[in-house]
Amino acid sequence: MLALQGDVREHAALLAGLGADVTLVRRPSELDAVDGLVIPGGESSVIDKLSRIFGLQRPIREAVANGMPMLGTCAGLIMLADRVTDAIEGQESFGGLDVTVRRNAFGRQLESFEAELEIPAFGGEAVKAAFIRGPVVEQVGPAASELASLPDGRVVAVEQGGILGLSFHPEITGETRFHRRFLDGVRARA
Ligand code: GLN
Repeated sequence: MLALQGDVREHAALLAGLGADVTLVRRPSELDAVDGLVIPGGESSVIDKLSRIFGLQRPIREAVANGMPMLGTCAGLIMLADRVTDAIEGQESFGGLDVTVRRNAFGRQLESFEAELEIPAFGGEAVKAAFIRGPVVEQVGPAASELASLPDGRVVAVEQGGILGLSFHPEITGETRFHRRFLDGVRARA
């Protein structure tokens, strides 16, 4: 669990509830000790800056390249996107998902809202998704695939290999299926 900034506690609690052994990652040696990485929501420009200050940007990029399973929500999705629009000047991402995301893409009135998403890969019950100044996936490249979209077609969840990226926050609506999917990927690889 990347613990530089953002809603770390909510993710850690959810993961622990699913039986995962959660390590808070703030330095490279802690990254070496984990088999998967969750990147929380928060503020992507801050997570970017702190990851460079703490010497984590390069190790995380290497972990992505080595196929470490990852789950990024909201700011975490921005950090995992290969291309980011409306970033602040000089803002960088780790990359890993062949997508273009736009930061703060929902208009003012829609900065925060909840939506129900049908996710074919999950079958069953719709996902209750909380959006909080979230990004939208504007383009999905050939290496990535769409997992969910809003009724108007805007893509809000993507996957590429073991990497999952969500525009919304499942950790605050009690939605566990994305974290389970991430943990399945971690266990499959271990
Ligand atoms: N707007 C934030 C960003 O650009 C993301 C918001 C969130 O993670 N809830 O990083």
